[in-house]
Amino acid sequence: MAGNGSGQSSAPRLQIRGIRKAFGQNVVLKGIDMSVRAGEVLALIGGNGAGKSTLMKIIMGIYTCDDGEILIDGQPARLGKPSASLAAGIYLVPQEPLLFPNMTVLENILMGFNENEGELKKRLAKHMEELGFNLNLQRKANTLSIAEQQLVELLRGLMRNAQVLILDEPTSALTFGEVEALFKVVKDLRRKGISMIYITHRLNEVFEIATDVAIMRDGVITLEGPVEKFTKEMLIQGLLPQDAAMQQNTRAYVPVRYEALKPVLQVKNLTGYGFKNVTFDLYPGEILGIAGVVGAGRTELISTIFGRDKTLGGQVILDGKDITGLPTKRVLQEGINFVPEDRHCHGLFKIRSISSNTTSALLGTQKIGKVNMDRRQQKKIAQKYVDDFRTKIVSLEDLIGSLSGGNQQKVVIARALSTQPKVVILDEPTRGIDAAARSDVYSIIRQLKDAGVAVLMVSSDIEEVVELADRAITVFQGRINGEFSREEITQDVLTSASFGIAQERTVHA
Ligand code: ADP
Ligand code: MG
Repeated sequence: MAGNGSGQSSAPRLQIRGIRKAFGQNVVLKGIDMSVRAGEVLALIGGNGAGKSTLMKIIMGIYTCDDGEILIDGQPARLGKPSASLAAGIYLVPQEPLLFPNMTVLENILMGFNENEGELKKRLAKHMEELGFNLNLQRKANTLSIAEQQLVELLRGLMRNAQVLILDEPTSALTFGEVEALFKVVKDLRRKGISMIYITHRLNEVFEIATDVAIMRDGVITLEGPVEKFTKEMLIQGLLPQDAAMQQNTRAYVPVRYEALKPVLQVKNLTGYGFKNVTFDLYPGEILGIAGVVGAGRTELISTIFGRDKTLGGQVILDGKDITGLPTKRVLQEGINFVPEDRHCHGLFKIRSISSNTTSALLGTQKIGKVNMDRRQQKKIAQKYVDDFRTKIVSLEDLIGSLSGGNQQKVVIARALSTQPKVVILDEPTRGIDAAARSDVYSIIRQLKDAGVAVLMVSSDIEEVVELADRAITVFQGRINGEFSREEITQDVLTSASFGIAQERTVHA
């Protein structure tokens, strides 16, 4: 590859200088300098709302910057629109995938190519094989999970032979096996001289795949250099908020005393599309983790309980009352609320304010009835959650779409809680959220538990289940294949069960 051998003397593949960007009053990037050379993987880490995604969107030409310049191979580039960035060999796998929902996987990947379709398909098959990625190319994009959508975006980038590949928090929605496959691809690409910017909140990944690391905080790069110069502790120090109030509050764990309780939710032999004969109980003040790989049927299971998908058999009993097959609106009224995985499709009204998003669920429940809440009341409730959850906002009247992922998630959780449900279902509660916001979300989940709310939590992040769950069940190919008490839950046990590998104590499948 040109310039590769002469090393440091050649110009970086991508260099950015003095990039500034404000959204209204909110100055998000305050003069960013950064560069990547051929074969370098720059890990970009930093708190929620630091400006990482915004910077990447500027490089990709999705946003224009207010000031600064971008150089490619030493030459000033006029980006400013995605087609120019693509032509310059840059490809961004965004944090929130942007596929065309009604098109198939194949159509999404091959869009914009003029070459022979047979050739393209051959190349695609090769990339998929390298990735170890099995996906039916005829599926519609709107049937894919977030992890699958991200992998499709990645394939799009690979098909375009991108010279600078940007991955914005790719692993937050991926399972263990998918992460391994992705790392293999990243290492291969690195060897081929591709430059990468890899945004993550997992420090172990930095040391595993990156050559360089940068920390961004509040729109400024605060630390930068080759990974060898840093230890994990140094990076943690660099990431910690200066504000002491933000420090994690580690509370004593309150065990559930099952013998004294009646289950609040009973799921009996429930069958639906993608899962079969699922039986479990959920107790007040309990966090029940549902682990499993992408496609195991977990999302289908909880959306059936929530009345979104059709029940094909079995029963759902809430507080002794049979609510099987009720529509979502009724399920909500009965006291189950849901925080979806894909907050963009199901979670938020993007064009509405933070305040009305927080309280919108209340309007559907009997507690408020049909009367519209006045603005003051709305704002009061919203402000309470913003304070409790340390949501980073400028004004309650700002559009929800202006918040970073972690802060949007806090609003979605706030909305679910505003109805004071008996049961809250969380689907991948910290997907795409950085370490600081994640610890906030964890403490929110623990507060729920302490308040006696029953929490049903689907998570592909096994560490998350280990950290939070009182009890865990694993779902494999649509059936429960293991149940584990808090004492039994370990990363190993859950991982093996999620992949269908039997441990000593296996519930027969
Ligand atoms: P990160 O990716 O580091 O978590 P983001 O780049 O998503 O951070 O967000 C940085 C800041 O920019 C946040 O305060 C966010 O509210 C703001 N922001 C991001 N996108 C927009 C937008 N389209 N409009 C207004 N503000 C935005
Ligand atoms: Mg981001």
